[in-house]
Amino acid sequence: MTTDPFFHPVSGMEMPRFAGLPTFMRLPYLPVGAPRRDEVAIGLLGLPFDGAVSNRPGARHGPRALRDASTMIRAQNGATRLRPFEIAACADLGDIGPNPVDVMDTLARFEAAYAGLAAEGIRPLTGGGDHLCTLPVLRGLAKGRAPLGLLHFDSHTDLYPVYFGGKVLTHGNPFRVAVEEGLLDPARMIQIGIRGTTYDDADVDFARAHGIRIVRAEELFARGLADVMAEAREILGQGATYLSYDIDFVDPSVAPGTGTPEWGGPIAREAIEVLRLARGVNVVAGDLVEVSPPFDASGNTAWLGASLMFEILCLMVEARRDFG
Ligand code: MN
Ligand code: MN
Repeated sequence: MTTDPFFHPVSGMEMPRFAGLPTFMRLPYLPVGAPRRDEVAIGLLGLPFDGAVSNRPGARHGPRALRDASTMIRAQNGATRLRPFEIAACADLGDIGPNPVDVMDTLARFEAAYAGLAAEGIRPLTGGGDHLCTLPVLRGLAKGRAPLGLLHFDSHTDLYPVYFGGKVLTHGNPFRVAVEEGLLDPARMIQIGIRGTTYDDADVDFARAHGIRIVRAEELFARGLADVMAEAREILGQGATYLSYDIDFVDPSVAPGTGTPEWGGPIAREAIEVLRLARGVNVVAGDLVEVSPPFDASGNTAWLGASLMFEILCLMVEARRDFG
């Protein structure tokens, strides 16, 4: 329990939610070296990088838009009554600076920062950035440790090996590389919401060969959210699990502000509900990626993304917290 007001969001009863500097969820800003950073249990961070997208860019602007939208969030989860900021000390740790013109340099910077967080004992919740940002997070957290399980919401598997004739790192293959590097346990991986047109079957072939469970959007809606999420809880068990949420999991009629939209996804109610149905999964870290503000004319994509981050945070404060 943390009753210390230092780690609580600034209340809208004291300063209106539209006023003040926009940190994630109005939490204190504690970059490296800030006082009391050693007390932080869960750190919210931005990874403003979109140099690995294959289509529309803009996710480098995601963290700022997510922070701004997140100032609308209050301290209590209306559905579950959970008050996450009273359970775990949370803070905004700022952005990790990318090299905007160098993918490999950026990955090295991100990995070093997340290895540092692991050494500090801080569990990260990240706002992206494109989906390749998840790879250095996993490297920083899991390299030299037991592989993590993965609960993955997306309209794409992100398991594709090749782009433009070469084996290069893109936002279309972080999870393939993470499996190949032993950062994820494929037997404890489930990818939910997959849909849209594809180039070929290279991703599903890889998934089949490694025993990765893919739940396409058609199956999700035919069976229903509760049934599929019960299966997810079964697959993930009680082991340490990473939760990665690509905003393009949500239908583009709801969340248009993203680079690679695909029709036939969940509406906002369902996008939130799958996370509440994940209660009991040992979510030790997570991210919300691929919000692209230039395509988000209404700001609704960022607002939904920030709201989903709050639900992921609620899962993280209830988790068993062991990294394995
Ligand atoms: Mn993705
Ligand atoms: Mn996607």
